[in-house]
Amino acid sequence: MSKSSIKNLPRRKVLSRDDYIDGFKAGNRTVLSQAITLVESNAPAHEALAQEVLQHLLPQTGKAIRVGITGVPGAGKSTLIEALGEMLCAKGHKVAVLAVDPSSTLTRGSILGDKTRMELLSRNPSAFIRPSPNAGNLGGVTRKSRETLLLCEAFGFDVILVETVGVGQSEVTVRSMVDFFMLMQIAGAGDELQGIKKGVIELADTITVNKADGDNLQPARKALAEYQRILPLLQPATRGWTPRAMTASALTGDGIPQLWECIEEFAQCTRENGAWDERRRNQNAEWFDSLLLEAIRRKFFDDPALRQKTTDLRSQVATGTLPAATAVLEAMS
Ligand code: GDP
Repeated sequence: MSKSSIKNLPRRKVLSRDDYIDGFKAGNRTVLSQAITLVESNAPAHEALAQEVLQHLLPQTGKAIRVGITGVPGAGKSTLIEALGEMLCAKGHKVAVLAVDPSSTLTRGSILGDKTRMELLSRNPSAFIRPSPNAGNLGGVTRKSRETLLLCEAFGFDVILVETVGVGQSEVTVRSMVDFFMLMQIAGAGDELQGIKKGVIELADTITVNKADGDNLQPARKALAEYQRILPLLQPATRGWTPRAMTASALTGDGIPQLWECIEEFAQCTRENGAWDERRRNQNAEWFDSLLLEAIRRKFFDDPALRQKTTDLRSQVATGTLPAATAVLEAMS
């Protein structure tokens, strides 16, 4: 199917696998959006087609730099992503921005849902912005976001920025799907050590103290010094890479080129020492493990007889008439 004929398709037409593949080859963004909608769909009928499309596109995936960005609301993530994204597009990169937000079902997309965010970048023909899927739980969001990431890579985006807020385990989740993970902090909020308490700093390859401008420049530099003191004491998130702290201003653009240089240096260093490939392999294998577990769980609990049996056993355990381990053995027999 030619590009123009795909463009002329009515919006609701059901595309075949080949329509998706051809649409990707033709660089048709409507088809990309429809493919993402397909992988985000909870309808069982869509799942088989989504997997077929993904399998076909898999050889075209894996070539992007995947960057995760986290920070509290108001830290300046979207402002920084816009500044970084604009800079990268000007350099000739193609940038996709995704969000992982398990709270989005409740808030109707607290991040990236607001159309006024990243207004400039969203109009840039070299960029693509996709809000978080509304999957209801982190597992669902994770799966859909990973598949969306692959679709964006197959489409030709060579930088994927994945934004998240620190809701529940979402930072760990995003870490598990990206090569480079950045924690954005702001000075003066009295929270320099907050990230350490939550263990988020240990996930980070860099900490960027944002809003290092105007009156905030001095506090930002102070925070930077604090992080520079702390970081060498922590276990690095990535083998062979000492996490760095830096300052930036998403508003003025100060520090944004240096941030990208750091990401490129990270890519080169970890590709050379093998940590890049090792992480990608581990991430793929762990993704398989978690999907397998999910499938086993579903298969088990979707069986009405087994469900009844486990419900009975569970109440016997609850009332103390059966040891838990005995009940499990019985459920599995
Ligand atoms: P997010 O919730 O982390 O995505 O934060 P936003 O990007 O929406 O930014 C929150 C507020 O901080 C907005 O009013 C921005 O204009 C402002 N902001 C973001 N980055 C900077 C910065 O580098 N310097 C200053 N002074 N303000 C900033």
